[in-house]
Amino acid sequence: MNVAQNITEIQTRITAAAHAAGRNVGDVQLVAVSKMQPDEKITTALAAGVRVFGENRVQDAQKRWATRRGVYPDLVLHLIGPLQTNKVRDAVSLFDVIETVDRPRLVHVLADEMRRVGRWLPCFIQVNTGDESQKAGCAVGELPELLNIARDAGLNVVGLMCIPPVGENPAPHFELLCKLASHHDLLECSMGMSADFEVAIAHGATHVRVGSALFGAR
Ligand SMILES: *Cc1c(COP(=O)(O)O)cnc(C)c1O
Repeated sequence: MNVAQNITEIQTRITAAAHAAGRNVGDVQLVAVSKMQPDEKITTALAAGVRVFGENRVQDAQKRWATRRGVYPDLVLHLIGPLQTNKVRDAVSLFDVIETVDRPRLVHVLADEMRRVGRWLPCFIQVNTGDESQKAGCAVGELPELLNIARDAGLNVVGLMCIPPVGENPAPHFELLCKLASHHDLLECSMGMSADFEVAIAHGATHVRVGSALFGAR
């Protein structure tokens, strides 16, 4: 497992998938998912020039990134895991992008905190495209209302995010997410992980969240 080599290989595959879809490679952002990975692998990725990372837990992310912030001022940290309202203050102070807005209560707590600190982070609304009871994300039918609430509250909603059900063909979920985004005038779609990021790019992903294919199994 050579992280530097993996980074090059994944970037090459992203480029190929973008070109195959007739898209500009600059329109597809790799989010390197560093959650639960040993620190030396993250150091290697930083040395290779990776600056956009995804973490799923606020506390783990604080441990990993709080001190590195000062060393790499161009870091862009995405929160990709469920956010509890009691972690909002820490999340808003550490992260640059919140990908997992999924309920009105969270919208209001986020908006209050962003107003307080004057930092309106770009947000994605997570959509539970597979309608799975155990999964975070708003139901497809609740999206229009949640989006209204978020926009009224002043949140800077830039796009939608989804995690398709494990073991299902992800393509219909990706297609649905991008259709919903474009229907609501949202430009960004965060979708696709190690196993399916090329499919996601074919369907319009602007952000792919890749962990194990870069850093190895967790
Ligand atoms: C862990 C995680 C990923 C990365 O998954 P891999 O299969 O390791 O690429 C992407 N998105 C979310 C929301 C995750 O929690």
